[in-house]
Amino acid sequence: MAKTLTARPDQAATPSRRKPVSKKPNGQWKIDGKTPLNANEEFKLADDGLHVRERIIDTYSKEGFDAIDSDDLHGRFRWWGLYTQRKQGIDGGRTATLSPEELEDKYFMLRVRIDSGQLTTEQTRVIGEISRDFARDTADVTDRQNVQLHWVQVEDVPEIWRRLAEVNLDTTEACGDVSRVILGSPLAGIAADELIDPTPVIHDIKEKYIGDPAFSNLPRKFKTCFTGHPSQDVVHEINDIAFVGVTHPDLGVGYDLWVGGGLSTNAKLAERLGVFVTQDQAVEVWKGVISIFRDYGYRRLRNKARLKFLVADWGVEKFRQVLEQEYLGYALPDGPAPETPTVTGDHVGVHAQKDGKFYIGLTPTVGRISGSQLIDLAHLVEKYGSTRLRTTPYQKLVVLDIEKDDVEPFIAEAEKLGFYARPSVFRRSTIACTGIEYCKLAIVATKSTAERVIDNLEERLADVADQLPERLTLHINGCPNSCARIQTADIGLKGQIITTEDGRQVPGFQVHLGGGLADYQNDAAGTLGRTVRGLKVEADLLEDYLERLIRAYLAERADA
Ligand code: SF4
Repeated sequence: MAKTLTARPDQAATPSRRKPVSKKPNGQWKIDGKTPLNANEEFKLADDGLHVRERIIDTYSKEGFDAIDSDDLHGRFRWWGLYTQRKQGIDGGRTATLSPEELEDKYFMLRVRIDSGQLTTEQTRVIGEISRDFARDTADVTDRQNVQLHWVQVEDVPEIWRRLAEVNLDTTEACGDVSRVILGSPLAGIAADELIDPTPVIHDIKEKYIGDPAFSNLPRKFKTCFTGHPSQDVVHEINDIAFVGVTHPDLGVGYDLWVGGGLSTNAKLAERLGVFVTQDQAVEVWKGVISIFRDYGYRRLRNKARLKFLVADWGVEKFRQVLEQEYLGYALPDGPAPETPTVTGDHVGVHAQKDGKFYIGLTPTVGRISGSQLIDLAHLVEKYGSTRLRTTPYQKLVVLDIEKDDVEPFIAEAEKLGFYARPSVFRRSTIACTGIEYCKLAIVATKSTAERVIDNLEERLADVADQLPERLTLHINGCPNSCARIQTADIGLKGQIITTEDGRQVPGFQVHLGGGLADYQNDAAGTLGRTVRGLKVEADLLEDYLERLIRAYLAERADA
């Protein structure tokens, strides 16, 4: 969709406008000391979140849910990818009226961390088997390259970890105030047009610093991404730190460094520091930035604790200066901005690899699959001679290393399993967060709503299918948080209870329009969608609204 864009990469290095700094202590460790200023900081300082692993193995898995200490249950369990899930049958209207304890079930969501999204068929099969054996056959591919299981009981967690460890997977720091899964280009190492392969850097960071107590108490979550692919396929504008492949005219290939992106409260696109980082420097630079966040990040108010607030207050010039002088001990050279992408970054469809084989991007509808489907897909991929898959930040899967003559037979078989290589624009471009099915914060149903809407739009808009753009992003959140990145979509929907004209309180959505990140269909790096004031849509009538909107867009575009 056409957009009015405001944040070009070559403009983003402009220093941010400074805000007056609050005189109250902000809980910045280097300035205010370590005295905790809220309950979250108290439990984190009292005992490292990483320590709960032993208690889960030695005590909680044997004594059961009711034996779990409250700070462990609602705090430290996250450091190992475990959240209590929503009690079934509580409607969204009651979300705000009940305490987290009243909303929670005795079952957990378990997030399996897949750094850079790289999976073998063996790992895929093991996740599928764990899902089948311990998670009622649930498995969601998330928009951060993880897989999330539901219905997990604490009694089974040690066995789940044992099976994951056997194939070199884990849930370490998958949630919590830590460095979350590191996004990596799904095409790392295989694309002919790749500038630089970040896989070794991501591997080094994971080995050295994930699970390191030096970085296990951050002010809030810390999101990292790397891409060396020209499609800029890791949503770099909304990560706390992003390394985007560029070619320096004198120094060769390396990365352009971005900091301070994030959605939810006060959504902000990341800003370029304007520096060039070589492959050899990338781990050290990452360590410098996460150290700044740990030492100077705000810890007084949870909703002001993400790195983006520090970046906004300091400005990029000061941030760069502190990074270079206090943490690196040397200056980084100025570097170029990434080019505007010329290809799409969701990688759906059939594409040539640099070695002559093909990679095939598959769409499982809104990332919702089952463990059984994962097991079947692993078998299918092996049947066609491959052992490699990738997850993507768009709730998709990419299968690598398919021979040319096998492409069509593979696609036909994958489709029978529910993985589409040539989906409609609606199936391809819609993502949805977990929603009311399992999330304690949710107000409305998301994935089931999205599935219904996709089916409907495919049918209703069949007559204009050939006029639709290749991608038309529809992102659906179940609450005001932004796990499905609604501000970055052509059409973003924020779940809430709305009042209809006849006075009924029903599940619905606030509409955002015109967002988008780096993409070949946009004419710049990214922009955040705007709330259309007063435009709220009843969940049950969503397809009516979307059909009208898309037909109007097509008509207007045709007249332009
Ligand atoms: Fe839950 Fe809200 Fe995130 Fe959706 S956006 S998963 S409802 S917190």
